[in-house]
Order: sequence, then structure tokens, then C-alpha cells
Amino acid sequence: MFEPRLFIEGEEMKCRICGRAGEDEVCKRHAEAEIKLREHFKVWAERTGIGWTEYLRAIVENERTGTLVKEAAIYLLRSRR
Ligand SMILES: [Zn+2]
Repeated sequence: MFEPRLFIEGEEMKCRICGRAGEDEVCKRHAEAEIKLREHFKVWAERTGIGWTEYLRAIVENERTGTLVKEAAIYLLRSRR
């Protein structure tokens, strides 16, 4: 269900991942992590034909994944965008 959200001037938005104040649904750090994830996915999908959810799970389970990227992947898995 789509819920339009009212943006009230002066009210800070909080990152849905870490709760830090930001200008969007997620803070800059997590937005960057999400972009990295999506770019990396394109390369992997071309090479291996991996699906988005499968890819995110692999990222989360990979011990070498950085914390920010891992948090973003968990968030994306939950939100299923
Ligand atoms: Zn954040």
C-alpha cells in the first residue's frame, strides 16, 4: 500500500536504517552504500544471472561485506524494492 508522506518544514527525516537525521529516507552514508550495492549487482547479474534477493542474501552472509553495505542490504531485503 502506498502511503503518501507529508513533509513538514523544519521536521528532520530520520534514516530508516540507523536513525540518523537526514534529508531522505536513508542518510547519505546508507544511500551511498545502496548505490554501491545496485551497481555491484548489475555486474553480478550479468555474469551469473543471480536474482536481486539472492544477491542481497549473499551480501549479508559475506563476512567481508562492510557494515554500512550490510545494513543497507538487510534494509533492502526487508523493504523488497
Ligand atoms: Zn543511515
